Amino acid sequence: MIITNNPNNFKLNQKNYNKIVDSINFDSISCDSCSHHDWTFHASYSRKICFLDRKVEIIISRVICQHCGKTHAILVEGIVPFSLLSHSEIIDVLVFSDTTLIYPSHLFFLKFKYLDVDISDYHSICFLNQRSLSTIFSFST
Ligand SMILES: [Zn+2]
Repeated sequence: MIITNNPNNFKLNQKNYNKIVDSINFDSISCDSCSHHDWTFHASYSRKICFLDRKVEIIISRVICQHCGKTHAILVEGIVPFSLLSHSEIIDVLVFSDTTLIYPSHLFFLKFKYLDVDISDYHSICFLNQRSLSTIFSFST
């Protein structure tokens, strides 16, 4: 995954996701496998994400390193890899035990999962969720 920040604090929707992806300077992002930076757009997939009490569906773009063939999905700050809940929703659920978005059993699961993590730290949450994939943070100001 390549996770980029959202410098303009856009509300998460498809239009703004595309805008953020379009603004990424891919030349500045080195492939974590081969250190080249020859990325091209490769594919896309649909993801549902809970964000500010709304469930949005975003078509996520993937890029491929032309040198070694490694692919990365492009996520925007707030989206947590392999999680339906965005970072802010995870905080709401865990801090306020807000179960409007999830089942109570899911709350129990999440409390256990994030027991040893500082849930305010977005990077830690992403690393915990990356499974076998690698994460590149590409944050600009
Ligand atoms: Zn590569």
